[in-house]
Amino acid sequence: YFFSFEGPDGAGKTTIISMVESFLREQGWDVVATREPGGIEIAEKIRDIILNPAHQAMDGRTEALLYAAARRQHLVEKVIPALKDGKIVLCDRFIDSSLAYQGFARGLGVDEVLGINQFAIEGYFPTLTLYFDIEPKIGLERIYGNEKREINRLDLESLSFHENVRKGYLQLMERFPERIVMLDASREVADVFADAISILMGKLEK
Ligand code: C5P
Ligand code: MG
Repeated sequence: YFFSFEGPDGAGKTTIISMVESFLREQGWDVVATREPGGIEIAEKIRDIILNPAHQAMDGRTEALLYAAARRQHLVEKVIPALKDGKIVLCDRFIDSSLAYQGFARGLGVDEVLGINQFAIEGYFPTLTLYFDIEPKIGLERIYGNEKREINRLDLESLSFHENVRKGYLQLMERFPERIVMLDASREVADVFADAISILMGKLEK
């Protein structure tokens, strides 16, 4: 099972993934929790290049290609081997982030970005994607209120950029209705977690 967790910044994906990881382990599942961009050395290095606040000059297509390259390497080195070993993979962001951020919000075109990502993933779409829906204003307030979280280049984008990211995700929900399930991530962590578990357990029992 390959589960991706998606949503605007500050939606709580990272927090919920670590809770889901512990829960599934206690249930006896073999779980790998990982993140994008990153998760392995080469991809973490690409992440540093993309998110470096000094790189304001980065071109949108360059950015999209770097995300796709990081995704490819992470998929091949970490995700596919874990899936072949029968593990559950929980991935903090995957292809839909590129479609929503670069394709929709940056205006590169969802189909164009899908194209380079299809080349990168060779059919490895997630079994299921949990989309954490939140108003960007609330998400960004959470980020700025969390001193542990490093502020990166993308957090400095305007509120309207993040609103477009959310719009992009909502369009993806319509485009991939069987794969993407939406959660209301504005609620308390315990409620979001309970929803996430019930959705995932529904898939795992089948
Ligand atoms: O989810 P995480 O906080 O690790 O993401 C790092 C940053 O990269 C976030 O600010 C997110 O907005 C940005 N990002 C992006 N395009 C992607 C994936 C992530 O702009 N395709
Ligand atoms: Mg996160």
